[in-house]
Amino acid sequence: MPVEQIPETVTRSQAHARPDSFPDLLVVGAGPTGLACAIEAQKAGFKVLIVDKGCLVNSIYHYPVNMVFFTTPELLEVGDIPFTTALAKPTRHEALEYYRRVAEHYHLHVRQYEWVKTITGEDGKFCVTTTDRHGAIHDYRARRIVVATGYYDLANKMNIPGEELDKVFHYYKEPHPYYDTDVVVIGGKNSAAEAALDLWRHGARVTLIHRGAQMHSHVKYWVRPDIENRIKAGEIGAYFNSTVQEIGLDNVVVKTPSGTLRLKNDFVFALTGYHPDYDFLRSIGIELSPEQQRPVCDPETLESNVPGIYVAGVIVAGSRTNEIFIENGRFHGKLIAAHLSEQLGGGNPNFPLDAT
Ligand SMILES: Cc1cc2nc3c(=O)[nH]c(=O)nc-3n(C[C@H](O)[C@H](O)[C@H](O)COP(=O)(O)OP(=O)(O)OC[C@H]3O[C@@H](n4cnc5c(N)ncnc54)[C@H](O)[C@@H]3O)c2cc1C
Repeated sequence: MPVEQIPETVTRSQAHARPDSFPDLLVVGAGPTGLACAIEAQKAGFKVLIVDKGCLVNSIYHYPVNMVFFTTPELLEVGDIPFTTALAKPTRHEALEYYRRVAEHYHLHVRQYEWVKTITGEDGKFCVTTTDRHGAIHDYRARRIVVATGYYDLANKMNIPGEELDKVFHYYKEPHPYYDTDVVVIGGKNSAAEAALDLWRHGARVTLIHRGAQMHSHVKYWVRPDIENRIKAGEIGAYFNSTVQEIGLDNVVVKTPSGTLRLKNDFVFALTGYHPDYDFLRSIGIELSPEQQRPVCDPETLESNVPGIYVAGVIVAGSRTNEIFIENGRFHGKLIAAHLSEQLGGGNPNFPLDAT
């Protein structure tokens, strides 16, 4: 469905109301959790609108192109739609296919490429303002809100000189552009291990730098021996208990236990993790716990300290992003839908079939 544009020359008050502008529930984020929340609320008869700043399952779309999930397919299912794959673990491609199919099956009403900037108002009458990719502003009203904005948009920065250079990336996509170049991979978890292996297998000269004493214990059980053996064989260089101090145009400076080194370098992948958009959560009045930045919410219903605004998915864990993932976040939708039914009664079961 094409996104209706509101030309910039039209003032917001002149913008005509649209049938989808007044949902019972507006879900911010079309990740697996946002989809699960929308499906469960829709099943309970509520009008639901999902808004995402990118495409459907935008985070998964931005994962490494050839990524394989560590989870078996049935644990990634939402809305009771079976997910079957040829091999034991789904690929990113299969997951994209699956979630598209789910959205189609449930006729989910998703506004892609609209970035939710502000949420104001109160329980029963929230105002949500989005900006689309052309800079046009859109306004929505909703009775209740689910925030399921994930954590993959904001990388944990190292705050070192040179981090802003074009050769430094916080996301890894694919190996080909790095053939026959000197690449440093920073990090000791799955993303770093998999990127280092993929780059090495496709002809890059790879050095892995990690502040810990060894690869993290959460590295996938089939990846860990692979990376450790490549390091032992000297095929992938590695410095543990080491930190990158500075990134130059053609080198990186690394502090190691045996002294400071300058390594020849063309590209850097700083795969040091990601974090939820705490500023956005605070801007809508959600309180965060002091240590781990967990949103204050009722664990039974996921309603936050702001009545009528729910939190769902990985953001519920704050900075502990490895506590909630698709496998368990997908159940948040049922909790929220049950609370909506209890508080608001039934909705309009014809939506979204009667929406434009
Ligand atoms: C490489 C990698 C591999 C992984 N493998 C697995 C695995 O095998 N199994 C597993 O269970 N988990 C896995 N995970 C973790 C899992 O993908 C995440 O925990 C999961 O995507 C979280 O789901 P979510 O719906 O909460 O957030 P997300 O999937 O991140 O979705 C959030 C959505 O919100 C949108 N958004 C953000 N801010 C706004 C805004 N202001 N306005 C509008 N839209 C907004 C984003 O564009 C995004 O589409 C993996 C993660 C990574 C990085």
